[in-house]
Amino acid sequence: MKDVSASEIRSTCAYCGVGCGVLLGPDGQGGLSVRGDSEHPANFGRLCSKGTNLGETLGMEDRLLHPMLHGKPVSWDAALDLAAEKFRAVIEEHGPDAVAFYVSGQLLTEDYYVANKLMKGFIGSANIDTNSRLCMASSVAGHKRAFGTDTVPGTYEDLEEADLVVLTGSNLAWCHPVLYQRLVAAKAARPHMRVVVIDPRRTATCDIADLHLPVAPGGDVALFNGLLAAIDDAGAMNAEFLSHVDGVEAAVAEARASDLSATGISPADLRAFYDLWIGTGKVVTVYSQGVNQSSAGADKVNAILNCHLATGRIGQPGMGPFSVTGQPNAMGGREVGGLANMLASHMDLENADHRSAVRGFWDSSAVADTPGLKAVDMFRAVGEGRIKALWIMHTNPAVTLPDADRVREAIAGCDFVVVSDITGATDTARLADLLLPATGWAEKSGTVTNSDRTISRQRKVLEAPGEARPDWQHLTGFAARMGWGTAFDYASPAEIFREYAALSGIAGGFGLDFDISGLSDISDAGYESLSPTRWPVAGARQGGRFFGDGRFFTPSGKGRMLPVTPRGPVAQTTAEHPFRLNTGRIRDQWHTMTRSGRSAKLSAHLAEPFLEIHPSDAAAKGISPSDLVEVTSPHGRAILRAFLTEKIRPGDIFAPMHWTGETAPSGRIDALVAPVVDPVSGQPESKAAVAQVARW
Ligand code: SF4
Repeated sequence: MKDVSASEIRSTCAYCGVGCGVLLGPDGQGGLSVRGDSEHPANFGRLCSKGTNLGETLGMEDRLLHPMLHGKPVSWDAALDLAAEKFRAVIEEHGPDAVAFYVSGQLLTEDYYVANKLMKGFIGSANIDTNSRLCMASSVAGHKRAFGTDTVPGTYEDLEEADLVVLTGSNLAWCHPVLYQRLVAAKAARPHMRVVVIDPRRTATCDIADLHLPVAPGGDVALFNGLLAAIDDAGAMNAEFLSHVDGVEAAVAEARASDLSATGISPADLRAFYDLWIGTGKVVTVYSQGVNQSSAGADKVNAILNCHLATGRIGQPGMGPFSVTGQPNAMGGREVGGLANMLASHMDLENADHRSAVRGFWDSSAVADTPGLKAVDMFRAVGEGRIKALWIMHTNPAVTLPDADRVREAIAGCDFVVVSDITGATDTARLADLLLPATGWAEKSGTVTNSDRTISRQRKVLEAPGEARPDWQHLTGFAARMGWGTAFDYASPAEIFREYAALSGIAGGFGLDFDISGLSDISDAGYESLSPTRWPVAGARQGGRFFGDGRFFTPSGKGRMLPVTPRGPVAQTTAEHPFRLNTGRIRDQWHTMTRSGRSAKLSAHLAEPFLEIHPSDAAAKGISPSDLVEVTSPHGRAILRAFLTEKIRPGDIFAPMHWTGETAPSGRIDALVAPVVDPVSGQPESKAAVAQVARW
């Protein structure tokens, strides 16, 4: 606590999955100073541009201050009465699967838990899914297939202790900047460390790459299958560790059948990468949305995990596969069951024993017994009228889901839509029947979990404006009106935390990974002062790594290598749509810019939506630098500023996902993306659409 001034309060950044600690200094007039917390284990005082400028994003412009029904203020009582009346009527007439919640990795874990308990435990449907489906669902599926649970094996320190860090489908420099800063510092301190970047684009992360492999879209499985075959050829399989792993022979046989030309990488560069990987004991492979957002995302994850399992390079200092999550609380949502196919505490909805235990814990006979609709299917069901009442919390699916024009039409046509948010000025909020004002970052209190399983507190340092309330209170007020008040009679976030910490003890009893029951009797004061805590919180693995000891969470107790067959993107380029469209983030904006867009400093980085296109493709289309271009796909269109760069492969184009617009044409790029998903994970293929480009 030594460098904290008396007026500063510890909290956590609002944005990405790195989960940096911040010190907040209220100025007494609604503003805050923000600086990095030198004692937080995620950042040790560092912040990126987004975190540094959080204080600029607190203005009241467009803040939602009162519940609003069709544009007119109403009381909280009237708003919650109406929400309960509408949901109850739909459930009585059409059943519980005719309603849905679409939630967000922006929610605090306490809010997430209450939403999940309400939908799965009392409404009796599993129709609750989250925008984390767009972020890391493929990693969840890959982890579960290989490890038996959704477990990130390693820690941030592993990136610093590795001798080789492979970043695949991860522009760490822009999307997880403080983790990138840690890697840069580690590489400077340990000059023998090597960095390989696997990405179709030459991104800012390549500034520290010893080798950049511009993989063809969809070439990842072939690339890592080739690595597995090379590991076997080199005699580098770890026989001792493989006694703890099933499926080895089938995975290797499938890997050997892969056609490496699908990678788009020269044989010499592939050989160089394979030799480096095999010859370096301490390897960490970091992967993110470039792997996850694919119709083969789960297979890509398992192709990576196969290589680490085959060599036993997992769960040891400086070794392991590492999924970096996009959102501030994607991990917390996973822990309390925010996905439509999970229960809570990493328990399975389809496991009768797990369901029975949760039913007893929640004292409810209505616990859902079949998975609900995943995000893309959920909004398809909304469009088809099968879901008639929808509650959207802190996310903007009218901009961010694939085929976003159809999603917008679906929400507009839904019988009853509730939106909880800090603003009524998003594309989605404007379509709501009922708007509920929520508290925002620095106004609310709870926990988040970052990419290396560290639970951190977000603390309230500012008073809520107007009638804004924390999300858990939106939900408990609704639950009380539905007749479930006793089960949702929480007085504080600490009470909610204690409840799901106790529930996690049941998961621990089943031998699962997420067990924080050691915190279930934490006092209010202890919760208030809770320091960053990496789970597991007890036992031999406390705060550390998983699987280095060869113990997994599958029924056999062994890890699993999976045979994975390369397959390319679903949408095929044609003469009409000859370009492969990749989408992603930029350094200084966050999602649809409802917060980061308020900062003049952040908006100065890249001020308008743009399209990266190779100069040879631009010349063929008569496009000059800074021309406005129209990008069209079978699903929609956008108008963007042309940015000619040799950092992108000919035939590929790239556009950021942040910009929006009420009417076409706009920079709303997800309007162009096909609603194609991975059949295992349900994650959309957001990085491999097809499109045409023309001067506008
Ligand atoms: Fe916030 Fe992520 Fe930047 Fe850290 S790296 S300051 S968590 S946006």
